Amino acid sequence: MIIVGGGQSGLAAARAALSARLRPIVLQAGAEPVGSWPDYYDSLTLFSPARYSSLPGLAFGGGDPDRYPARDEVVSYLRRYAASIDADIRTGVRVTAVHPRPGGGYLVHADFGEEIAAAGVVAASGSFGNPHLPVLFGQEAYAGEVRHVAHYRRPDPYVGKRVIVVGAGNSAVQVAHELAPQARVTLATRAPIKFVPQRIRGRDLHHWLHVTGADRLPRSVLTRLVRHAAVLDTGVYRDAIASGQLARREMFTAFTPDGVTWPDGTSEQVDAVIFATGYRPNLDYLAPLGALERSGMPRQVGGVSTTHAGLVYLGLEFQRSFSSNTLRGVGRDATHVIAALAEHVRNAGRGPRFMQRLPVRR
Ligand SMILES: Cc1cc2nc3c(=O)[nH]c(=O)nc-3n(C[C@H](O)[C@H](O)[C@H](O)COP(=O)(O)OP(=O)(O)OC[C@H]3O[C@@H](n4cnc5c(N)ncnc54)[C@H](O)[C@@H]3O)c2cc1C
Repeated sequence: MIIVGGGQSGLAAARAALSARLRPIVLQAGAEPVGSWPDYYDSLTLFSPARYSSLPGLAFGGGDPDRYPARDEVVSYLRRYAASIDADIRTGVRVTAVHPRPGGGYLVHADFGEEIAAAGVVAASGSFGNPHLPVLFGQEAYAGEVRHVAHYRRPDPYVGKRVIVVGAGNSAVQVAHELAPQARVTLATRAPIKFVPQRIRGRDLHHWLHVTGADRLPRSVLTRLVRHAAVLDTGVYRDAIASGQLARREMFTAFTPDGVTWPDGTSEQVDAVIFATGYRPNLDYLAPLGALERSGMPRQVGGVSTTHAGLVYLGLEFQRSFSSNTLRGVGRDATHVIAALAEHVRNAGRGPRFMQRLPVRR
C-alpha cells in the first residue's frame, strides 16, 4: 500500500499499517518525513502541552511535560518518530496522480515518472499545500502585498508598515498580536472574536478535553455544543484587543488600488494584507480517480472513501473527532482507516503482490 505524505498523518498511518501486517511505502514530497511543520511561522508553539502531543508509541519527551513545545521541537519529534517506526519512507517523491489499475487496485504516479502499483492508498497529504485565499472586490488592482498566512514566517518584513490581518482563528490572532508592537496592525474579522481559555481551574484545556472525552466527540455532537470557532487564549489576546493594543475592526468591504475601504465608507492606504483564512485538503492527485467533490473535498465517511474501496484519508479536519487533525488524535483515526484498508486488501486477497519496487530516493 502507498501512503501519500510523510507528515504526522502519514507516519501514524505507516505505524498502524505495520501493526496490521501491511507493507506501507510512504511517499513524501519534502526532503524529510516531518510534514509541514518546518514551514510554519517561527514563533509557533503547540496549543497542547507536551504530555498531550504524542503520536502512538513514542512519548513527546524532552523535559517538562506541561510545557508548550516550540515548532522546531515538533520537527525533531517527528524525525525521531519516523526513525522509530522502521517503515519504507521515500523522500523527495511527489505523487502527481492516482489511477485505477486494470484488474483492481491503484497505479500511483510520481513526479519522476515512476508508476507504482498498490492494493490500497492512504491520502495523508495535509492541507498546508492548499491555502484558501478569498478574492475580494478590487483585489486585482491593489498594488500592496497580499499574502496567505501560510507564507508568513516572522515580523521583520512588516516593521513600520500598515498591515491588516484577516481572520478570527488562532493563526490570525497570533500573527496580528506578534506584529502589533512593530507594525500598525488591524485585525479584520466578520464578527467579534470568540476565545476559549487555555487554562481552566488551574489545568490546561487539553487535560479537560482528555478526561471528559470531548476530544473524541464527532463533529455532529461538538457543533451542537460549540457554535463558533474559537481562539485559545491565556488572556493575553483578549486583553490586547480590549485595551486597544491590538486593533480589531469589522472586515473591510473592498480593496482600493493602494489600500482598503472599511464598512463605514472610509478608505485608507495599506501596505500589506495577510489572509489567515484557512486551508483546504491538498488532494489534486486524486482528481483523475473521481474521488473528490467538485469543491475538491474528498467523498468519505470517517476517512474511508465512499467512491473507491482501498482508498482512505488521514488528517482531515474533524475526520472522526475534534482531535482528528492533531498530533494527539491522528493515531486513533489511523487505526480506524487502516483497519478498513487491511480488510479490503485481505478481501482482494493479493496484498503483497501489488507491491513493485521503486528506486530508493532518500
Ligand atoms: C499554523 C498551524 C498550527 C498548528 N498547530 C497545531 C498544534 O499546536 N497542535 C496540533 O496538534 N496540531 C496543530 N496544527 C494542525 C496539524 O497538526 C498540522 O497541520 C499538521 O502538520 C498536520 O499533519 P499532516 O501530516 O496531516 O499534514 P502535513 O504536516 O501538511 O504533512 C503532509 C505532507 O505531505 C506532503 N505532500 C503533500 N502533497 C504530496 C504529494 N502529492 N505527494 C507526496 N507528498 C505530498 C507534504 O510535503 C507534507 O510534508 C496546526 C496547523 C497549522 C497550519
